[in-house]
Amino acid sequence: MNSPIQPPAGPEIMACHDCGLVHHVRPLREGGAASCTRCGAALYRHKPDSIDRTLMLTLAALILFVVANSFPFLTFKLEGRATTSTLMTGVIQLYEDGMWPLAALVFGATILVPLAKLLATIYVLLPLRFGRRVWGLAPVFRATEIMHPWAMMEVFLLGVIVAYVKLSDLAKLELGIALFAFIALILVMIAAEVALDPREVWHRVGRQTATRSLTAKDSSSLLSCHACNQVCRLTRGRHARCPRCGATLHRRKPHSLARTWALVIAACILYIPANLLPVMTVTSFGQGEPDTILSGVKVLIAAGMWPVALLVFFASITVPVLKIVALIFLLISVQRRSRWRPRDRTVLYRVVESVGRWSMVDIFMISILVALVNLGAIASILPGPGAIAFAGVVILTMIAAMSFDPRLIWDAREKTRDGPQTVHA
Ligand SMILES: [Zn+2]
Ligand SMILES: [Zn+2]
Repeated sequence: MNSPIQPPAGPEIMACHDCGLVHHVRPLREGGAASCTRCGAALYRHKPDSIDRTLMLTLAALILFVVANSFPFLTFKLEGRATTSTLMTGVIQLYEDGMWPLAALVFGATILVPLAKLLATIYVLLPLRFGRRVWGLAPVFRATEIMHPWAMMEVFLLGVIVAYVKLSDLAKLELGIALFAFIALILVMIAAEVALDPREVWHRVGRQTATRSLTAKDSSSLLSCHACNQVCRLTRGRHARCPRCGATLHRRKPHSLARTWALVIAACILYIPANLLPVMTVTSFGQGEPDTILSGVKVLIAAGMWPVALLVFFASITVPVLKIVALIFLLISVQRRSRWRPRDRTVLYRVVESVGRWSMVDIFMISILVALVNLGAIASILPGPGAIAFAGVVILTMIAAMSFDPRLIWDAREKTRDGPQTVHA
């Protein structure tokens, strides 16, 4: 591929995102990947034609996105009456039921953020593909990385599956074109994610500087940009900015421990109403009573839907509790300057950071149920206040995990003897 913007020549260094150790970057063989020599985190991969492939996949995803939002998603048939829903129906219904925080959450996670991410990716990659630069490349690309955990289409799809199983013995459900487009959209977006090499994009946005002849002594005076991985020399002055992407530079995330503690404690408090208040009320022919998360699981078991009951129990009850416990454990271990198994603790952190969003499954299931089961006296499902508290728990624990700086785990044992490391493909 031709491009007037050349990748940098000469030695390049990068710091591990998870533990902060500085590595020399070496060219990789075909299909190769480099991981951190200390904590095992993935550093970079060989991804040929990354920008071309990601751009094509993202354009395809945009077309699928339009289809997924324009056609019927699911149709619910009961007693000769039918309700057809699109992706937006659940959002509108939640809003009309007075649950605007949930409506905003479902709208953001399944429609707004995925669309913004697609458009932002195209905005960055299209000009770079033709060797041009447009205004705001760096902040827009930084924003796509921030948006990444908040685009939850695959979690929504799991919610669709749970809702489908739950309704299947009550009524007839028909799958619409939009649902198939939505599944294709998820697969194409995952493929685009896999094809994208952020290092390549950052190279084209701006060169990596300050990389020659580093010694062990230097690595203590280096700062790694958490957004674009540019390694910079530590300068005096309080608000240093990354010369490449403009993000504020910190040696560690500021006030990481205090912030994470505050968010974890808030999540613990919200966890109580999330489990005591009803998350939804199912009414069928005038009968029905409010369900909490736990009683909802019991209903599923009583109906013999074991796999779905286990899935909901795991996603809605086990995962949030384990996540809070794991974060408290990491916080205490860092505060006690523990040297115990830093590598395992880093892996634990990575798991906590990546599984959290899957707890949203129950919220998405509710949004699908309230949209479909809306037949007045025959059958209707209404959301309950517990759902808002539960969504709050999931969001707070997600932000708590993002606030925690895993490099703190390694600080206890580090008296910065480690110079730049060489990684092998
Ligand atoms: Zn590492
Ligand atoms: Zn940067």
